[in-house]
Amino acid sequence: MDMQVSLLDRLFDSGLLIETGVDGLYGRSGQFEDVIAAFERMIDRFGGADGAEAIRFPPGMAMSYFEKSGYMKSFPQLAGTVHSFCGNDHDHMGLLSCMEEGKDWTKEQKATNIALTPAACYPLYPTVAKRGPIAMTGGLYDLQSYCFRHEPSREPTRQQMFRMREYVCMGTEHHVTEFRQKWMDRGVQMMEELGLKVEIDIANDPFFGRAGRLLANNQRDQNLKFELLIPVNSNANPTACMSFNYHQDAFGTKWGLNLEDGSVAHTACVGFGLERIALALFAHHGLDVKVWPDAVRTALWG
Ligand code: AMP
Ligand code: ZN
Repeated sequence: MDMQVSLLDRLFDSGLLIETGVDGLYGRSGQFEDVIAAFERMIDRFGGADGAEAIRFPPGMAMSYFEKSGYMKSFPQLAGTVHSFCGNDHDHMGLLSCMEEGKDWTKEQKATNIALTPAACYPLYPTVAKRGPIAMTGGLYDLQSYCFRHEPSREPTRQQMFRMREYVCMGTEHHVTEFRQKWMDRGVQMMEELGLKVEIDIANDPFFGRAGRLLANNQRDQNLKFELLIPVNSNANPTACMSFNYHQDAFGTKWGLNLEDGSVAHTACVGFGLERIALALFAHHGLDVKVWPDAVRTALWG
């Protein structure tokens, strides 16, 4: 049995994660949630004084925004959309008999106008664009959302429905790149307080297909994405627990995000993978939080 399976099995055995029958879709125990809640308070401790506007979107977003985001161009393999039964009595009879016969009843489901949120910041850009120009001092937003990515896996750190806490900054190039650097420094400091071994490395998103390889290379060449890596499943392949993304003016142009002087806003976002950070803590310090080092317990629970 490899390391990954055994960590997942230990998490199930301890009750921290609860099997649902689908790889990457898990229930979480009260204890698991308490670690996430404590870590989110720690994020507040580091970032609270910055005065970000807190917004919480549901885990679904408007299909029109999803389409315009270009997600299907870059990551069709990860996307999820919500479909529903929209028929009449007759269709309903057909649906039930199809299910009865064990056939594929989902083919008749129709797309609703909701897509599953792929990253916490996706619904934010059109929302801010609708408000009009952004002050020259910039915009700063604090988000948290369940996200969906269709990447079933037995690796506990790769889930299909997981939470991302994000800070998003919109402003001048200087402003948003400073913001990103500040959170890279804070991220390292936070993980050190939590007794976790970290490294920061350049990264790329999993762009789809042959054209995607070019996009990924471009992203790396331009230093647009960094990740904070912590060994969770293995030392050889540490897990990305935070990401730091600079979008240049791509989202500003796409969504019509302008600064008060008429220039296109640059944007950057930093994302914490909340389940991954909780799993890193459990993998490093053990499944029983009562025996975690005092310094780690103090950092989380005061
Ligand atoms: P990304 O937008 O891919 O940079 O994701 C932001 C953060 O979310 C990553 O740094 C991870 O910590 C977390 N994350 C991404 N994909 C998953 C997943 N499948 N399961 C759990 N956490 C994830
Ligand atoms: Zn983001």
